[in-house]
Amino acid sequence: MELLVASRSTHKISEIRRILEAVPNIRVLDLEEVCIPYDPSEEELEPFDTFEENAISKASYFRRVTGLPTVADDSGLEVDLLDGAPGVRSKRFAPEYGREGIELDQANNAHLLALLGDTPLEERTGRYVCVAALERGKPETTGEQPTVVRGVAPGLILDASRGSGGFGYDPLFLDKEWGRTFAEMSPSEKNARSHRGHAFRALVECLMAAESS
Ligand code: IMP
Repeated sequence: MELLVASRSTHKISEIRRILEAVPNIRVLDLEEVCIPYDPSEEELEPFDTFEENAISKASYFRRVTGLPTVADDSGLEVDLLDGAPGVRSKRFAPEYGREGIELDQANNAHLLALLGDTPLEERTGRYVCVAALERGKPETTGEQPTVVRGVAPGLILDASRGSGGFGYDPLFLDKEWGRTFAEMSPSEKNARSHRGHAFRALVECLMAAESS
């Protein structure tokens, strides 16, 4: 089965590939491989207030464009003291506009640290959430509902960065059980513990169950 991973984030794609490529019979493709150049209107594909709606919106858009079975993820960090923010707005959390890549991550992390101030560590609770939506085939011929799975990773938000791996909020996100941030883990360790790892392993189980039925 060919499966398009519809993301422009190289970090996300490499994390997802590690999981999906371990499954026999799945050939992972990304948007570059299927020659879909970036279009700024893609930024408007995720206007919703839930990870589920945004993930389905992205997956069904790229399924329509390519006709390929397509999976998309929408993910983010929920912080309890901030009533679940940044949540679905995690990518553009900092008030400054126009930043991308590492500069965007640094601005988001600085904004998060400023909002949490000197709150003690035990109160800086939160979680990463990842929702993956899989749309298969062509909508006009199949009418199939998307498969939607959710992965959650609980953690604490540190008051200073630790580690150089991962991306986004990873240097601030402490896995309490392991005593390390996601940025202090190898890629396979992060996948073992992360929201994305949990979601995509659940998706693989759904695919296996569908194949054997
Ligand atoms: P999305 O592309 O709309 O799903 O936005 C995801 C945003 O959530 C990213 O840009 C990061 O800010 C944050 N995020 C999601 N997953 C992770 C992760 O695994 N590590 C670090 N940040 C993440």
